[in-house]
Amino acid sequence: MSATLDHLFDRNVAWANRKTREDPHYFHRMAEQQTPHYLWIGCSDSRVTANSVLGLDPGEIFVHRNIANVVHTSDMNILSVLEFAVDQLKIEHVIVCGHYGCSGVSRAIAGERGAMLDHWLLPISMFYRKHRATFDAIADPTERINRMCEINVEMQVRRLAATPIVENAWARGQSLHLHGCIYAIDDGLMRDLGPHLSSVEMRERLPSIDQRVFQPVEAQSSMRQQAIAAFGAIDPAALEAPACCTRDHDLGG
Ligand SMILES: [Zn+2]
Repeated sequence: MSATLDHLFDRNVAWANRKTREDPHYFHRMAEQQTPHYLWIGCSDSRVTANSVLGLDPGEIFVHRNIANVVHTSDMNILSVLEFAVDQLKIEHVIVCGHYGCSGVSRAIAGERGAMLDHWLLPISMFYRKHRATFDAIADPTERINRMCEINVEMQVRRLAATPIVENAWARGQSLHLHGCIYAIDDGLMRDLGPHLSSVEMRERLPSIDQRVFQPVEAQSSMRQQAIAAFGAIDPAALEAPACCTRDHDLGG
């Protein structure tokens, strides 16, 4: 690979030209104050980019990413992003989006201890160790990691909900909703996972996170939700005696 970034600068010029051709006011609009409605807290994995996954333009979503989408409540970076998003931008929706097959979660489960990263991943590895017997009973290692990926999302939504930034916003009546989601790289679909929290009371009503290990929440993509809704809308009476199959139409009499 080249020692310079000329190829990237070339791509940048081509992109800016294409954008301007498609919409001459695009960059004028972007230069105005940003008014995103969402804060995305996701993994640093290069395949899980908020704007692409959600099909949003720049300016529509405020983003924070780190390895395994961990909310450390002593991390100045995430707290600054959260505070700015909630207090200044008045963002209404905070989305913690994990992804299946996360290398960070996989490393936490493997119990690696050789890098700074392993300190970062400690909340995940500690939770895994606490429930090791249950996780290890999942025979398929991929499924085991994915199960932990889901629980990790819920853990981080709960941590967000416990920050003074979020509590203060709720206390002053600000509309602020926290959501847990998970993305699958192999089909491009984001799945609703929960929890969805809009108040301290909702947070307090959550069962213990330890309970989630035994009672998993089913992650559902929008496509699956639509299919379930469509199936639910079918009138069972119409299914009982379809015209094609009633005795009147039966040639056998
Ligand atoms: Zn990841």
